[in-house]
Amino acid sequence: MNILNNKLLMRPYVSITLVILLLVGTASVIIYFQKTLLEIEEALPITLSKHERDISKLVNDMGSLVQSIGFARADQSPKTFRVVVRQTLALEKQLEKISENYRFNDVLGASAIHAKLNPAIFDIKNWLTAGLFNFDPTAAQTMKLVETRAKNAHKESEVLLLQVGETAINVLTEQSQRIDNFRGIMIITLTALAIMTISLVLLGFRLQNIVFALKESEEQIRYRANFDSLTHLPNRLNFTEHLSEAISRSRRDLGQIALLFIDLDRFKTINDTLGHDFGDELIKQVATRIRHAVRETDVVSRLGGDEFTVLLANMTDEIHASIIAKGILEQRSRPFMLFGHVVYSGASIGITVSPQDGADAMTLLKNADMAMYEAKDQGRNTFRFFTSQMTERARQFLELDKEMRRALIQDELQIHYQPIYERQDRSLIGVEALLRWQHPSKGLILPDDFINVAEETGLIEDIGIWVLRRACTEALAWLEDDLHPRFYLAINISMRQFKGGLDRKRLSEILDETGFPADKLLLEITETLLMDEDVRIREVLSEFRELGVRLAVDDFGTGYSALSYLREFPVDTLKIDRSFIQDIGASRSSRRLVETIISMAHGLDLVTIAEGVESPEQDALLAELNCDMVQGYYYCNPIAANKIKKLTAVDKPAFTIVHSS
Ligand code: C2E
Ligand code: CA
Ligand code: CA
Repeated sequence: MNILNNKLLMRPYVSITLVILLLVGTASVIIYFQKTLLEIEEALPITLSKHERDISKLVNDMGSLVQSIGFARADQSPKTFRVVVRQTLALEKQLEKISENYRFNDVLGASAIHAKLNPAIFDIKNWLTAGLFNFDPTAAQTMKLVETRAKNAHKESEVLLLQVGETAINVLTEQSQRIDNFRGIMIITLTALAIMTISLVLLGFRLQNIVFALKESEEQIRYRANFDSLTHLPNRLNFTEHLSEAISRSRRDLGQIALLFIDLDRFKTINDTLGHDFGDELIKQVATRIRHAVRETDVVSRLGGDEFTVLLANMTDEIHASIIAKGILEQRSRPFMLFGHVVYSGASIGITVSPQDGADAMTLLKNADMAMYEAKDQGRNTFRFFTSQMTERARQFLELDKEMRRALIQDELQIHYQPIYERQDRSLIGVEALLRWQHPSKGLILPDDFINVAEETGLIEDIGIWVLRRACTEALAWLEDDLHPRFYLAINISMRQFKGGLDRKRLSEILDETGFPADKLLLEITETLLMDEDVRIREVLSEFRELGVRLAVDDFGTGYSALSYLREFPVDTLKIDRSFIQDIGASRSSRRLVETIISMAHGLDLVTIAEGVESPEQDALLAELNCDMVQGYYYCNPIAANKIKKLTAVDKPAFTIVHSS
């Protein structure tokens, strides 16, 4: 719309001024029309009647002149002659006046009468003063001619006067017609003006509305750009501005500021399992709690997702920052009520202090983020101040990723296998493939030191395929030996591998390639994988099961999974996390928990494996609890492939404790 581009019209006072101008204009036009009409109406009859009177008087006077000439001719006295002269001169004057005064002369035929009388009076006056031919003015011949001239002129002017009357009526009719027309035009003009005024007023309103709407949306846009719509807290952009300002202010005042970087623990799980509405509600409640835990002057913002920041300006002591962080964590440890559900959600907080941890907003934020990760690593629901070692860790992360890529190409990876035994007769029933990295300079590296990084960078997808291929190839040889009839190979699969496209096609390709039978393969997956919202994962798991591959839930008991979940998945084995096994002797509650897990698993027709069995006491307790299979240092460490060969070669082996090199 072009009008919108016209900034001038959009200013409210401009349109208001226009409306006022139009109103004033209309009013003036009305007044002018009215006045003019009145003038015409008033002036017309007066003019007409006066004119008529003047003209008819002129004609009458001419008549009396004719009479006087008649008298003068009859008595031929100088007295009557003088009367004639006087009347002639008076008429001459009247004629002069008429010719000067009347603008309607022509219309009313006045000029015609004038034209008749004027030369006659002129002649008569001449003849009465100078005489005619050789006659005296008073001579009978002169007077006769004067009389004839006057009579003719009078007669003719009388005829004309009659016509003047008619003309006057015509003029009146014509004028009133004109007045009517004028009135019509006036009405049309006024109507047009009124319409224009109304339109302009309406347009003004519309413009006003548009202007208001524009203003509103402009404000909304500005709000959206600076505030988070869910929590109404400042967003990242806004916060960075606050932070930069605070940094330069503190530099001027030689003060300190602290930045708290808060990340919710396990938010993703809550979001994935309970749904986004719950996630949103949790975020809102968390925002309120954080606000309550800080001072009015501290800036709280939501950077996005489950990340919040708090800016503490004018800090006198770092202790203040840790008090606030503690306060926030305490607030967080209380349960949240989400639509009737009780949910616990901790947080991890990283803290940076300016100027020492960074002189600009970006560095401070980055380092606080790093400190937050450190806090997460330290067991969640805690806070950490940033240290320079953390930057070092980040550097190491990148270095490790680079080295791992090299390791994969240069074949530095290998697999150790940890035997799994049937608890009752202690026969070897399977092996779990565990990844090892033989680093050229650092020696043997265990997966806990590199799997996380590989998962984060995505390299685990390639590594995972490599493990599947290698383990299937190596384990194939043992199948030929006289083994337990249900001997199987267990391989750990991480969540990232599923997201990265590990599916039925990929897996059966590897099985075909290596010739490893699908029903001898058991894939160990995590509880979180079962909780994932992605329906594709469930489909892929079912497809694996269709191939004949079995599935086990690894580290059972550490995640969120409700037992009811297990029924929905084609899982047939539970691996009880080693943290429970470790406590089983000392803690009654751990024991009861393991007992419950085992009996429940049996109820669901699931096989149970105890992980991390380290002592004969633990082994004895597991026997009491009727656990199906055992795995742990007490039985055997993870060992190289060639050592497994020896184990399997033993005929129905009693358990042997073999130590890996
Ligand atoms: P996990 O699946 O729970 O594997 C068992 C871990 O417990 C192994 O650690 C094993 O050496 C250790 N272990 C066995 N018996 C005992 C015991 O009696 N006491 C104690 N304290 N620990 C015992 P490892 O080999 O360091 O592997 C650590 C984790 O790395 C594994 O935990 C698994 O989650 C992951 N991982 C290992 N290999 C792979 C792999 O090829 N792919 C994937 N995605 N993850 C792997
Ligand atoms: Ca495992
Ligand atoms: Ca495990």
